[in-house]
Amino acid sequence: MGIATINPATGEMLKTFEPLTDAEIAAKLEQAQAGFEQYRTIPLAQRATWLHQAAEILEGDREKFAKIMTLEMGKPLKGAIAEVEKCAAVCRYYAEHAAEFLADVSASTDASHSFVRYQPLGIILAVMPWNFPFWQVFRFAAPALMAGNVGILKHASNVPQCALAIEAIFQEAGFPAGVFQTLLIGADKVATLIEDERVKAATLTGSEAAGASLAAAAGKQIKKTVLELGGSDPFIVLESADLEAAVNTAVTARMLNSGQSCIAAKRFIVAEAIADQFEKRLIEKFEALKVGDPMLLETDVGPLATPAILMDLDWQVQESVKQGAKLLTGGQPLSDRPGNFYPPTILTEIPPGSPAEKEEFFGPVALLFRVADIDAAIQLANDTVFGLGASAWTTVEAERDRLIEEIEAGAVFINGLVKSDPRLPFGGIKRSGYGRELGIQGIHEFVNIKTVWIK
Ligand code: NAP
Repeated sequence: MGIATINPATGEMLKTFEPLTDAEIAAKLEQAQAGFEQYRTIPLAQRATWLHQAAEILEGDREKFAKIMTLEMGKPLKGAIAEVEKCAAVCRYYAEHAAEFLADVSASTDASHSFVRYQPLGIILAVMPWNFPFWQVFRFAAPALMAGNVGILKHASNVPQCALAIEAIFQEAGFPAGVFQTLLIGADKVATLIEDERVKAATLTGSEAAGASLAAAAGKQIKKTVLELGGSDPFIVLESADLEAAVNTAVTARMLNSGQSCIAAKRFIVAEAIADQFEKRLIEKFEALKVGDPMLLETDVGPLATPAILMDLDWQVQESVKQGAKLLTGGQPLSDRPGNFYPPTILTEIPPGSPAEKEEFFGPVALLFRVADIDAAIQLANDTVFGLGASAWTTVEAERDRLIEEIEAGAVFINGLVKSDPRLPFGGIKRSGYGRELGIQGIHEFVNIKTVWIK
């Protein structure tokens, strides 16, 4: 497909981009390295001023940036505007807290004085996905740049205008040349970048295949990676739950970003005693959602980002139905219009071994499971190769404690939506990846944690 903007709501090819040549990539790396030599000496307070300025630019032009995202990957506009605001928030969070997070930490040892100092590593490569095309980049860049690193971004090939807009924001905010650069390149250039001695570490958000390939290349070079990969997050509703709140949150949890979120709830695991009511209300709410033009503020569900995502999702649904799953609503691509539209869909009575039991569904499809009790709920929740987030609903304290303790995931949210928040670490276990973004943990991923011992 190459690097291009194709409107997912219409299928129209709007703009194509030439990938950088090898000579252009080399020049960018040189600029990044020169940028780092200078930038690492800039005081934290100055870096924070620039990051605050980036937040101002984002907020000042929130609609313009939101529309670029919606145009390129089909996210409903209201979600895109919220995403721009969240990017401003993460810039402010690290601008305000980095000095505290990066301050020397004393330790009492046999030295006269010993402490830990956090120092930047150099050029960090970020390979990013299209689904939150601004947020994924800012949540990497804000802590990395505050720590004194410089960033090079290889964004997904279907969001080049987002990638260029982000580079322009950092430039306009005042960051020196070379501190944040977008490289319009295909995935085939990633391994070569990692092999370059000046690139010190890499982070990737995306599929397992891409993560494994990047980590293998980095492993050969003994370079650190952070991987944020897929998920098939459970949403557990036990008998004592506030059913109305659980159903309302279930709809948001599955439909946010038209279902294309790593931390979307994908498997709804509901206690048999309340399952009929939950199912009935979920169907009603799914059928009431407005599917359509993502540029309209009233739209709830937009198109999927690419025709390939639509085809894959449709195959997963059809194959699961063929193997015996029951369709409660939706289940066919919307063929009455151009673009990659798929309706809100619910599958239940999911047979073992079917795609609906084992795979990540990256679109507006809810998988509904009924369980007898909390033991069965936890067992089913953990019966997956993934371990990103989990939402669980109960008002019984003992159940809450078991869910927190026994669910295998990077995050457990009790009686709420799984979401990322600059103040809390974010990341997964198992095949959902490793390392953490956000919080104090996020800024410590790409630093040299230097031990200092003085006698
Ligand atoms: P993808 O194909 O893996 O693409 C993500 C990025 O990786 C793109 O920039 C892509 O470039 C690049 N890439 C692809 N193959 C590569 C390779 N072999 N080596 C190096 N880079 C490579 O992911 P996607 O399917 O677009 O995104 C959806 C997946 O991301 C889902 O599984 C979702 O759950 C996951 N995700 C996880 C998180 C999280 O925080 N855990 C957040 C969002 C999404 P091209 O576009 O040029 O191919």
